[in-house]
Amino acid sequence: MSADGDTDDTPESEAISPYTLQREEASETRHAFWADTVADRVEERNPEEPIVIKGGISPSGVPHLGNVNEIMRGYYVAEVLRDRGYEVRQVFTADDRDPLRGLPRTLCDLEGNLVDLGEVDAGALGRNLGAPYTDIPDPFGCCDSYGDHFSTIIQNSADAVNVPIELVSNTELYESGDLEDVTRFVLEHQDRAREVLSQYQDKVDEDYVPFNPICEECGKITETVTSVDADAGTVDYRCTDMDAGDQTIDGCGHEGTATLREGKLPWRFEWPAQWQLLGVDFEPFGKDHAEGSWPSGQDVARNVLEIEPPVPMVYEWFTLEGEPFSSSAGNVILVSDVLELLEPEVLRYFFAKDPSKARDFSIERLDQLVDEFDRLEASYFGEIDADEDEQAFAERVYPFVVEEPREARIRLPYTFAAVLGMTDDPDLREEIARREGHIPDGAPEWAVEGALKRVERARNWARRTGNEFDYELKRSEIPAHDFDADTEAALAELADFIEEGHEPDEIQGEIYEAAKRNDVDVGDFFGAGYRLFFDEDQGPKLGPFLAKVDQEFVVDRLRRER
Ligand SMILES: [Zn+2]
Ligand SMILES: [Zn+2]
Repeated sequence: MSADGDTDDTPESEAISPYTLQREEASETRHAFWADTVADRVEERNPEEPIVIKGGISPSGVPHLGNVNEIMRGYYVAEVLRDRGYEVRQVFTADDRDPLRGLPRTLCDLEGNLVDLGEVDAGALGRNLGAPYTDIPDPFGCCDSYGDHFSTIIQNSADAVNVPIELVSNTELYESGDLEDVTRFVLEHQDRAREVLSQYQDKVDEDYVPFNPICEECGKITETVTSVDADAGTVDYRCTDMDAGDQTIDGCGHEGTATLREGKLPWRFEWPAQWQLLGVDFEPFGKDHAEGSWPSGQDVARNVLEIEPPVPMVYEWFTLEGEPFSSSAGNVILVSDVLELLEPEVLRYFFAKDPSKARDFSIERLDQLVDEFDRLEASYFGEIDADEDEQAFAERVYPFVVEEPREARIRLPYTFAAVLGMTDDPDLREEIARREGHIPDGAPEWAVEGALKRVERARNWARRTGNEFDYELKRSEIPAHDFDADTEAALAELADFIEEGHEPDEIQGEIYEAAKRNDVDVGDFFGAGYRLFFDEDQGPKLGPFLAKVDQEFVVDRLRRER
């Protein structure tokens, strides 16, 4: 209690909101990069080194791009702290002693292919409802367990975006005894634990015991502990039914005894126990935790475990094509898929943006994200006029986003790369890019190679979305065609117009006009264009397309000279 008679007995530090970024304190230094603001708060704890940043995931469903959000958010804070001279560990827990509570409809193999439950050994999963993920056989047969399979994909995803995480298996922390002391402490202070948690969960009554043993008979996690011997480090239990959302997982009725390594703390205690064991200083998490386990978690940390909870940060979830990520609805994308479409640094950039804002990840409009990244890069190197905020953001963030800032790096505009992707010939791609001024004379070989690598990615994008660039430009040979004199005259006029140099929408307009002037049906005239360039009856919006391809070729082709 404070000296001025203030009767509010809530310590000031308890008022920490996880929504920190939405509520920057007036006294705080304003930073261009949100990770610097968070790093200030971590420094205020006077943390011991190494500073520990954590994230975590329960291995259900498909580990998709949304799950990488947490890894990337933690990474930027880690990088900023490293930049300030601290030694930092980024730990990511696989909460793999959690029980499987329902059958996922979709799984993912190690190559990143989504697989329907029906295509794997679903029976083995069904028999293991209620068992810890690490005790369930891998449905694909390639890893030690279902949990291990999931963790492998998470690790691969982190590797793919070049983020060094230490993946920690919760099951291993229990089995090795690392979590035994804190588990015993919680059981020794059961009354306190019950009292705190009952403020958050109605189901906590006087019989509630904060430990869930694994039944030695059926292998399922059970919630009915009948007695505790904290000194001996054992609990007696009865294997009862478990409520799992809209279904009940049957217990086998077995009565037995388990050690503190043969079970788990309920999540509301497990999370704070992880903070204590791993010495966590900062943890970002999604909105679900912000309203659920964070308020109880910080209470448990202070008033049961007697530790200071980490600096929290809520990040907004993002949507995919305007819809929430959902592996069962098929609205997911994996990191490995994304990296077939854009460079890792572009993806890293996406996660460098303000985490307190909801955003959409749109494959359809991936060109906008890539353009934004290119602009960040150009701002960093002072190649464009950016306003003060944008410039400050670029200067601070860009070095964390790329492996190494190199001024001579070349980026082909993404949609231009997609146009180049319409042709297979690598020499021709390079020739057009040079002729169109996207590759300067004297550019170093590595920069040219790097620039042209984007063409394959943009082509994958065109194929995946079936967009206006998903066509094969018949470049080397003119397709067979047979036009009447009017059509030939209209084509010649269009060629002249393009040769004069015009904007995309002007070219589009001229296609209509040239057809009309020569009494050619407009639809047929577009058809003639698609025939000449793609050997097809249809294609992309022709005016903007012709504007993107090198003019000399377009003019020659319209004149049917090559
Ligand atoms: Zn596997
Ligand atoms: Zn049982």
